[in-house]
Amino acid sequence: MYTTVVEVDLNAIKSNVKEILKHTNVGVVAVVKANAYGHGAVPVAKAAVEAGASMLAVARVEEVAELRKGGLTCPIFLFGRTPPKRLDEMIQQEVSLTVWNAEQIEQAAAAARRVGKIGLLQIKVDTGMGRLGVRPQDFYPLVEKVINTQNVELEGVFTHFARADEIDTLSVDHQQACFKDILATLNARNIEVPFIHASNSAASLCRPDAYYNLVRPGIAIYGMSPSKECPLPGNYKPALTWKAVLSQVKMLPPGHGISYGHIYTTSREERIGVLPLGYADGFRRVEGNQALINGKKVNVVGRVCMDMCMLQLDDVPNAAEGDEVVVIGSQADQRIAVEDIADVWGTVNYEVVCGIGARVPRIYV
Ligand SMILES: *Cc1c(COP(=O)(O)O)cnc(C)c1O
Repeated sequence: MYTTVVEVDLNAIKSNVKEILKHTNVGVVAVVKANAYGHGAVPVAKAAVEAGASMLAVARVEEVAELRKGGLTCPIFLFGRTPPKRLDEMIQQEVSLTVWNAEQIEQAAAAARRVGKIGLLQIKVDTGMGRLGVRPQDFYPLVEKVINTQNVELEGVFTHFARADEIDTLSVDHQQACFKDILATLNARNIEVPFIHASNSAASLCRPDAYYNLVRPGIAIYGMSPSKECPLPGNYKPALTWKAVLSQVKMLPPGHGISYGHIYTTSREERIGVLPLGYADGFRRVEGNQALINGKKVNVVGRVCMDMCMLQLDDVPNAAEGDEVVVIGSQADQRIAVEDIADVWGTVNYEVVCGIGARVPRIYV
């Protein structure tokens, strides 16, 4: 039925969310930004909520709209900046908004007044990531601003770690110390904030001191490790398989060039397969790609094209048009992990799955 397809195991997603809930024993914000790391936002979000996630998080207003349109009624948290013109819509949809300056608080309050709702605001503190967030010394005035502004509520205070996926804990220790100071300023004034959170997947696995009352795992709910230094325990399951169906198989004579630029030339008579998977699908135009066919690992040869690439099939003489090929996942006793492709591409598992093209259909099993 498909040329190439991403198959997502929603039971794996559910099981991974449950593992995190059990492991951390605090609330879970399931991070489903970037089309749920390429897995498909709405079905993954539904599975995560079913498994017990209390909130969903995304990076952009467009992603919020997709979830609400897809029927997700649970709390949604927006990590990124809300364009001022979308504030009314976001507050109308009861989205928790991230803020880091006074103007955002005023604009949110004005929008909340217009739509007749309370704006739920979470202050992000930059404790060391050097990305979004208020500098620690400017934190408290923002808290006062929220508290003293009508129509908005301080729903949360949070931060994000730069190096939680490394063995060396020094950087996280520094960020944690900074965040604890921040929280102490709230404590000293008896200010209670419903949600305090800091942990991405890496910290959710190994920094119990940073669980507070919510964790924000992304990569772990998809069953992938935050890094080589921070592997997932064996009870997490990868949810994604990427397949394609062989378009053609043929014998080519010795000295025959393969694909653009002829960077590969047959050295004898060779069996070559055409796989309908290319860089427009997110399958990168680099050397060293591999695939599984009939339970065997084979090499991609020649340049990856926009919609196709070629496989060297001498080891699989019975390979034929219509055969199923796996580029991420298992076949028989063979496996190509996302991390294997990431190594070939010189990147991380995150980028591989986020890069799977929009034209590749996602199906759910
Ligand atoms: C993406 C993101 C996460 C999730 O990170 P993982 O490493 O995938 O667990 C958590 N918090 C914030 C602010 C993020 O941007």
